[in-house]
Formats: sequence, structure tokens, C-alpha cells
Amino acid sequence: MSFQQLNLIEPLQNAVAQQGYTTPTPIQAKAIPDLLAGKDLIGIAQTGTGKTAAFVLPILQRMTEKYPRALRTLVLAPTRELAAQIGDSFASYGKFLKFKHTVIFGGVGQGPQVFALSRGVDIVIATPGRLLDLMNQGRVSLRDVEFFVLDEADRMLDMGFIHDIKKIIGRLPQKRQSLFFSATMSPQVSQLAHQLLRNPVRVEVAPQATTVERIKQGVFFVDSAAKEKLLLELLLQKHLTRVLVFTRTKHRANKVVSYLSSHNVRTDAIHGNKSQGARTQALQNFKSGRTKVLVATDIAARGIDIDDISHVINFELPNEPESYVHRIGRTARAGAEGTAYSFCSADERDFLRDIERLIRLKIEVMPHLYHSNQAQNAVGSVARPPPRNQRGRSRSFRPRQDKPRFRR
Ligand code: AMP
Repeated sequence: MSFQQLNLIEPLQNAVAQQGYTTPTPIQAKAIPDLLAGKDLIGIAQTGTGKTAAFVLPILQRMTEKYPRALRTLVLAPTRELAAQIGDSFASYGKFLKFKHTVIFGGVGQGPQVFALSRGVDIVIATPGRLLDLMNQGRVSLRDVEFFVLDEADRMLDMGFIHDIKKIIGRLPQKRQSLFFSATMSPQVSQLAHQLLRNPVRVEVAPQATTVERIKQGVFFVDSAAKEKLLLELLLQKHLTRVLVFTRTKHRANKVVSYLSSHNVRTDAIHGNKSQGARTQALQNFKSGRTKVLVATDIAARGIDIDDISHVINFELPNEPESYVHRIGRTARAGAEGTAYSFCSADERDFLRDIERLIRLKIEVMPHLYHSNQAQNAVGSVARPPPRNQRGRSRSFRPRQDKPRFRR
């Protein structure tokens, strides 16, 4: 299937070609025809599947059917980063069309956002809290919305946005096309979808385990106290070119950054306590290669769209196994190769077990210098012991410059 076969109008075909896309991803191929036909849609897909273009392209096309300047498309996203990225997608795919969009999120002054709205926009991409504030101040009205997208619904609910979302949905016109995306489908998520959508088409792509199978995965059993040293050792290997490190807490993210910085590894952190300016700067530094390592918490990293992340490192394992899938999905994007390493201490063994159950894979155990029998035995793994050199000491993997081999 090619983009031509999707019956997209020329300005969109040209924009897609400029992005270098030749073939629609499965979710694009499945969703675009129904969306062009005006149907509601429920998409079960995670970031990295091309879902943003799957909704942005048909919405832009449908918007060209008439040209009044009014807020006709509203997209809700859980985080500022994701909202900004969706805004960038509207800009890239709509570059040969005349629509204006703006992104609205909290944590920054509302002045510039109010100004952008007052000048007239066709598309708003927003996080729920700030949008609701502006609606309550009478600075934005949803009466002309024809196309509504709720992105990453599961994460929205995790983040406690349900009441804001319901209030926003209550102010939308009855006659509209609604799209709903979620990586997972809990009963609450499906109840929300049911309230929002009318006779939706259901599109499901890449069940979590299939995406995960493309990513090389390894686990290091290591005591908590040795994790920083192990991370530093790994980062000295040349093939770890762009590394996203996940911690569970903001505090730990900051500690990892100061440890690495004190060892001359350029690192930034992004998490909820950072100002918007600092987050944007950190992402830019990482994208441009100024920093090789970005340390993030789950929520801040949600939906980060950076190509060529060579490695994801779970400095701490997430307590929700689904988060593991989201985290490692930051690498191996759009068909690229990717590797995910996880550090597992004795107290994280249950998390590892849950993850392996979810992904239906046994993650390969990696040998290393800070090998911990305690951590490893705790999971009852059959991992081989670390290789020993002739002097009988554990051999570090550091001198090995070739990529480690993985068992699937
Ligand atoms: P998303 O799931 O929307 O976050 O998209 C994941 C990544 O895939 C983004 O970096 C997109 O630029 C890229 N992408 C989207 N559609 C295509 C396509 N048809 N061909 C190649 N890359 C794509």
C-alpha cells in the first residue's frame, strides 16, 4: 500500500513525501480511509506506530472541505511534550495548507496562549487542565469543534484528568467526529470511549508483545548501590550513542544526573519539577547530540518523539509492567534497531517477573562487573555466572566493543 492509494489530497501527499515517508504504517493504512469517510474511531496503539499522522492527515483533509476560521479541531494530550509534538505534526503535515494551530499547556504563563487564541486558530492541541482554565475564563469556546481527538487516554486517566476531560467533552457540540487513542484498554478506558464515540471503527495495531519483540533486551542483576557505577561503565561503550535513562522518581533522576555529570558525562534530566524552558532545552540538547544521555521519569518522557535513541536504560524497573513497554518503545522507532537494558535489584524482582509475563519473553541476563548473586538468586533465574578471566576475577564487559549478543 502507498500513500497515493489512501486518496490523500496533493498538499498532504507532498508533505508526507517531504517527511520521507513512502509507505503508510499499519495504523495509517487501517485508520485513514475510515476517518476520511467521517467515522468515529477507537485506536489501540502506542506511540511509535505512526498514530499521530494517522489522525492528523485525515483531519487536515476533512478540514479543507470548507474554510471558515474557527476552532474546528481540538486534540487533548496528557503532557506538554506530547501536545507540542502533535503541534509539530500539524505544522509538518499541514505545511502546504493554510490552517493555524496553537498548543496550550500549563506550567507557563497563559499570556502568549491567550494572544494566539485571540488572533484566531483552526486547531488547538491542549492538555486538559489549562484548556479548562481558559474555557472558564471565556477565552476559548468549543462551539465550532467538528473534530475531536483524545490521545493517550489510558495515561490521561492515570494522571487523574478524568474530571477535566468529562467537563471538556460536555462542552463539545453533539455533531462532531471523535477519535480516541489508547495504548491499553482497561474497563475505565473503555467506559470513557463508550461515552465519547458513536459507532466507532476499532483499529488495533501491534499488540504490545509484538513491538517489544523487535527490541533487544537485557537485564543486569545489580545491587541498588552499584547501579550508578554500572550505568557509567555502560555509557563508556561507544555504541551507546543516544541513551534515554528512566528512573521512578524525580529525586533519583536528579541524583543520576549529578553522578554522571561529576564523571564528565553530559546529561540532562526531564521531569515534572523542571520548568518548561528547562525541559525544552534538555530535549533540544538531546536531539542535537549535545548531550548523549537524557534521564527521565515515566510521565515526563511520555510520547517523546526522538529518533535514533540507541538504548533505553531502566535504571529502576517500573512497578507497572505496561510502563516498561512504553519506556522501551522509545527506541527501535519506525523500524530502527534498538536495545533496552534494565537494572534489577533484589527488591525489584517482582516487577521483572510481571514484565516478563506481560511481554511473554524471558529477558536475557547480562554479565557485568557488579554482579550480585543476591539480586539474581532472588528471581530464581537460570542465568549463567559472569565469565572469569585467568586471574579469577570477574571480567567487565567494558573492553568488548562489539555489541553484546542477545538470546530471544
Ligand atoms: P507516532 O506513533 O505518531 O509518535 O510516530 C512515530 C514515528 O514514526 C515518528 O517519528 C514519525 O515521524 C514516524 N512516522 C510516522 N509515519 C511514518 C511513515 N509512514 N513512514 C515512516 N515513518 C513514519
